[in-house]
Formats: sequence, structure tokens, C-alpha cells
Amino acid sequence: MAIKQFKTESKRLLDLMANSIYTNKDIFLRELISNASDALDKLHYLSLTSSDVKENDPHIEISVDAKNRLLTISDNGIGMNREDLDNNLGTIAKSGSLDFKEALENKGDVDIIGQFGVGFYSAFMVADQIEVHTKKVLEDKAYLWKSTSNEGYEIKNDTQEETGTRIVLHIKEDNEEFKYSKYLDKDELQLLIKKYSDFIRYPIKMEVEVTKATEKEGETKTEVENKTINSMIPLWKKNKKDIKEEDYEEFYMQSFYDYNKPLKTIHYSVEGNTSYTALLYIPSIAPYNYYTTDYKLGLKLYSKGVFIKDEAKELVSDYFRFIRGLVDSDDISLNISREILQQDHQMAMIKKSIDKRIKSTLEKMLKDEREDYEKFFKEFGAQLKFGAYENYGQNKDVLIDLLLFKSSKEDKYTTLKEYVSRMKENQKDIYYAVGDSIEKIKAMPQIERLLDEGYEVLYFLENVDEFMASILMSYEDHPFKSINKGDVDFESEDEKEKTKKENEDNKDILETIKTSLDGKVDEVRLSARLKSHPVCLVSDDGLSLEMEKVLNDMNQNAGIKAKRILEINPDHELFKALKKTFDAKEEITDYAKVLYDQALLIAGFKIEDPVEYTKLISSLMVKAMQ
Ligand code: ADP
Repeated sequence: MAIKQFKTESKRLLDLMANSIYTNKDIFLRELISNASDALDKLHYLSLTSSDVKENDPHIEISVDAKNRLLTISDNGIGMNREDLDNNLGTIAKSGSLDFKEALENKGDVDIIGQFGVGFYSAFMVADQIEVHTKKVLEDKAYLWKSTSNEGYEIKNDTQEETGTRIVLHIKEDNEEFKYSKYLDKDELQLLIKKYSDFIRYPIKMEVEVTKATEKEGETKTEVENKTINSMIPLWKKNKKDIKEEDYEEFYMQSFYDYNKPLKTIHYSVEGNTSYTALLYIPSIAPYNYYTTDYKLGLKLYSKGVFIKDEAKELVSDYFRFIRGLVDSDDISLNISREILQQDHQMAMIKKSIDKRIKSTLEKMLKDEREDYEKFFKEFGAQLKFGAYENYGQNKDVLIDLLLFKSSKEDKYTTLKEYVSRMKENQKDIYYAVGDSIEKIKAMPQIERLLDEGYEVLYFLENVDEFMASILMSYEDHPFKSINKGDVDFESEDEKEKTKKENEDNKDILETIKTSLDGKVDEVRLSARLKSHPVCLVSDDGLSLEMEKVLNDMNQNAGIKAKRILEINPDHELFKALKKTFDAKEEITDYAKVLYDQALLIAGFKIEDPVEYTKLISSLMVKAMQ
């Protein structure tokens, strides 16, 4: 019998398969099992339309002959005749050979294999010879298709009597890189079947040895049992009303190794151009590595109940990466030979729809389950804030109304919308204060008057907050204004006029203070924003002092410097006293230094020279007591 050559594309793929070292070899089992399941589907369909065709206990069987290194996968499905064998197993990538070739070329390596599956040929990753014994339904003759991959294949008559297909893999010998023998280990095979094919609709059977207790105490016996390995009906395919809350929770905790129950379960199906079912969870606690690059997205992709891949990043936007669960779509093909571009498009559609669903769920929680939403936000809110400002605020419309900030209104969480609804009549700006804690913010000199006059101030407690505000700039046309910066103007026109005049009248003394500080500050001015405090340090409109801190923490050599403005309270006793001593220039210099250091301390910075500071204070104290 002449040996036939594979078609060109097939050969190329075969080489890739036989030599692949990077690919996840385990997937060959998934591929063969889903082919078997398809063959059973086809027979089932025929049995509905033709009275000659009967199903007889449709199932898939896995058996192992470890001694001879044989792994067999059989099904009693539709089977193949000679023509089928030639057409189906002689050519790969029948329908989309061009796309496949392109994908190979564009994506470079074998990554695509693990992601999409390439069907029957993947068995050559683990086997150096494959035999397919098969007999098609309603036909008399059985055939044997045999190949050692690169040599091509041959087809002979076979003696198989039952309808169906039996695929025998001669498992490769172990080498240093890989222990192929794992595919001859029944425990290992059971794990793989559970992982990849648990929800195949037909039973996947395997003869396994089970140890049982005998009637005699302490004695056991080993029996061979024909066990069904897969659980067949996936939870997410069940009718929602038949699923209990505990079922969802258990599934979550088992699938994602989380000891905590999920905060929220989202289970729904979409019918249409791209149909899919999603079972999604919002965890109640962020994983310890959530805000690091080690974090792995817990979203799985299935196609008709067959596991395709973990970490399905293409199915959800990065700002919702806390979501866990799975998506099962009938429209995503296992086989790369079908339109790969089409798949990309379908994936994009699903992603859009999933994003929308997560968003509406969060919105609903925010509205109806505030407590839970706040719990969620504590864990994952920083991610949303980051999402709102990254790429210059490209996604801000999606996310902005989901953001919460602590605010001076009872120190509780508020949305921006709620803040705006409470703004004072004449208020244009959204005020925020940056600090490590609510206590520290409340102690800031700058905040006192604002709060006294009934303005609400958002507490920006996380590094991400101010970066977000500086990129987004405003919310519903209300600019974000930092009270730690120089341009907060809530004063009346009269007041502003008064302050301006005061600044002019005291030009000399302010100038002297600035000179005394020897370049440490860019400006010294009187300000009406202070109430009981004598001084404060602010920055101007651009980079804030807090951002300076964050950026320099991230990169020690950044040497980033915000503009520093020393603001003095003109109504404070201290300033009045300063004016009196203005003539004693030497003392003014000392006072200026002390004032500046105090402003630094209160803004949460280190003072440059603590020794000089204490010396100055001591000498001033001595003078005061003399
Ligand atoms: P795909 O299943 O995506 O079409 P494969 O390379 O896995 O690609 O299989 C090629 C074809 O071979 C299948 O479409 C099917 O017609 C046939 N085939 C494979 N396995 C079986 C089987 N167990 N029983 C019947 N036909 C099969």
C-alpha cells in the first residue's frame, strides 16, 4: 500500500507539532476528546433524521497499555470511511488554510496552538505513531489510518466490527526535556480530563483500580471499575432557578482557590450574533498580589463546554481585571483552521458585552447595595481610578461615576455626583485635600477655613487620586481644585481685593522673608485661606508637593520639584509681631527659617536641617524668657 504525502500546510504544522517544546502538550487530549464528542453529536443528529440509525450508549473511552506505551481514545460515534479519512486526516486547515498560515507567520511561535487548538494533529506532540481504526455508520467496511507523521500516512482495511473510531497513540519515549510517560498514568489522565473536558456532554469512561474496604477489619481489596471521569453538565449550563447560592459559591471557591465567598455572582446568557454564557464573580477580598504584575486574571474561556484557556485577557478590560469566572461560547471554534480573524472579532464583541455587564452590575450595587459596593471599592477601587485616568482618560466616561472618595461630609465615601449635588450655591470647584490619613488632612492649616464655611472637601488618601484629578481635570464642568495648591479661591471679591492690597502693603517684609530663605521657596505671600494657623506651604497649579513625593519615591534620582509657595496668615498674631521686628533684619532671617520649617513639617515633609532648626528655636526661647 502506497504511502500518501500530507498536503503542504499539514506538513508544516506537523513539523511544528513534533518539535514543539514550548506548547502545552496536554491539550492533545482535549482535542481528541472533543473530536470524539463531535462524532457522537453527528451520530445523534443522524439518529433523529434517519430511522436506520440508532444510538447505543454513546460514550468515550480512554484506555492505557503502559507496558507497550499505548494510549487509546475510542468513541462509538459516526466513524469515518476511506474518503473521510483522506479528506479529514490528510489535510489540515481545510477551510482556513490561508488564515492559519498567516497566523503562523504573524504570531511567530507556537503560542497559537495552546490558545486555539489545532485538532487531531496535536496528538503528534506526544505520539510518534498514530493509528485510527474506524468504521462509519451504515457502512460495512472498516479502515485503519496509520502515520508516523513526517512520512505521510497510509490507509488499509481493518477488522473493527463496531461503528465508531478508536485512536491509538504510541506515546513517545521520555527524554530530558519532557516525561511523556505522564500520559500513560491513569491518575494524571483523570486530572487532565477533569481540567479540560469535564463538561463534555457524553461520559468519558476509564477503567480504574479502586481500593475498597472488605468486611474484615483493616483489610482492603482492589477492584477494577469502569468509572465516568467527567461531570458532564457544567454548572453554568444549568437553569438558573435550579442553582442554589451555595452551588455558585462552592464552584467559585473550588475553581479559584479562594477561602472567601464571592461578593457577587453574575450569571447570564446572551443569544445573538455571538452567543455566550458567562458565570462571573466579584471576589470579596483582593488577592495579595492584585496590584502587582504577578497577578493573573482569573477568567477562563470555554467553547461548548470544552476548556480553551486560562487568563483570557481578551475577554475583559484591564480595569475590570478583578473579575473571575468563565465564558463559554458556542461560536468560538476550537480549531484554528477556521477563521482566526473572525474569532478575534467575536472575542472583541464578547469583551464589549462583558464589560458592559460588569459595569451595570457595579452601578446597580452602588445604587441598591451600597454597603457591598463600598466593600468592593475598598478592595478594587484603586484599579478603577487608575483605569479612569490611564491613556489620558480614554475610559473616564465608563468609570468616573463608579469612583468613591472619602469626604469631609461625615468622613464617609461619596461619589462625585453626590458631591456635586451638595455643592454650595456659589461653588464652582470640587475641593480635594491630599494626605496620608483623614486625621492628617483635618489638621492641615489650609482646610480649616473651608470647612468652617461649609465647603465639602474630598480626601485624596491614595497616590492614584491626585494623578487622576490632574489628568481628568474636571467632573461635569467643575474643576478639581487642590486645597494644597495655591489657586483655591473661595473668597469673595472684597476679600480678594483686601488680600491683594495687604500683599502690596507688605511687599518689603515678604521680599525679605523670601531672600532669607535663600531659594528654598519660589514665593512668599499673604493669604486669606488660613484661619488659626500662621503659615502653610502650597504649590502652584502644576505639580503638587504630594505628587513630588510620590514621583521621587518611585524614582530616587528623579529630582522632581514642585513649586513651593509659603503662605502667611496676615491676621495671625505672629505676622503682626513680625511686622514690628521688621527693622531687626537679622532676627527676621531666623524667624523666616523657623516659619518655613514649620510649614514643611505640617505638610508632611522632612526639614532639611533639624539641628539648625532646634538651635534657632532654643535661641528664640532664650530671648523670649530673658
Ligand atoms: P476539526 O475537528 O476541528 O474539524 P481535526 O483535525 O481535529 O479538526 O479533525 C478533522 C476531522 O476529522 C474532523 O472534522 C472530523 O470530520 C474527523 N474526525 C476526527 N476525529 C474523529 C472521530 N473521532 N470520529 C469521526 N470523525 C473524526
